[in-house]
Amino acid sequence: MRKAVCPGSFDPVTNGHIDIVERASRLFDEVVVAVGVNKSKSRLFTAEERIAMLVEACQPFANVRVAGFSGLLTTFCAENSIHAIVKGLRAVSDFDYELQMAQMNASLTDIETVFVPTSPEYSFLASSLVKEVATFGGDVSGLIPGFVNERLKARVAERVAGGQG
Ligand code: ADP
Repeated sequence: MRKAVCPGSFDPVTNGHIDIVERASRLFDEVVVAVGVNKSKSRLFTAEERIAMLVEACQPFANVRVAGFSGLLTTFCAENSIHAIVKGLRAVSDFDYELQMAQMNASLTDIETVFVPTSPEYSFLASSLVKEVATFGGDVSGLIPGFVNERLKARVAERVAGGQG
């Protein structure tokens, strides 16, 4: 069985992520979306919240499951008998880092990285930008699922009310 992992922080999941996961699900028998749960102060959503949103977003894809992971991605892959990492490539700016990462991961284990070019409509889309735009009241409803948009608006409002906005 061909298995692949789509790793990321997904803070929060965007339509660009979902596009890559869907396309990976057509290439592989099973896809695990691996959500990095390492502690980081800059996250807007907790690991549990990010995982819950992904589970909802991935519901249409029968061969996709969602899991949290901490530590090295290659360790997670070894534990789950996964030999392929799928990454979306947005622009040349993604390439340097992703190539370095792919080569590092290949040198650590027998893992192959498969790059999927982003769909043009999502080439500018990143969670960090979505959060920034939403923080300043911009409309990001076309870039993320509706239920994610509701949670994002609620979280931004909480932050503003708490003086962290
Ligand atoms: P961010 O979305 O902030 O760049 P993530 O760590 O959540 O960060 O992204 C995880 C992975 O999802 C990225 O490494 C990349 O492979 C893919 N990805 C993210 N956004 C897009 C997009 N708009 N188009 C294609 N792939 C994407």
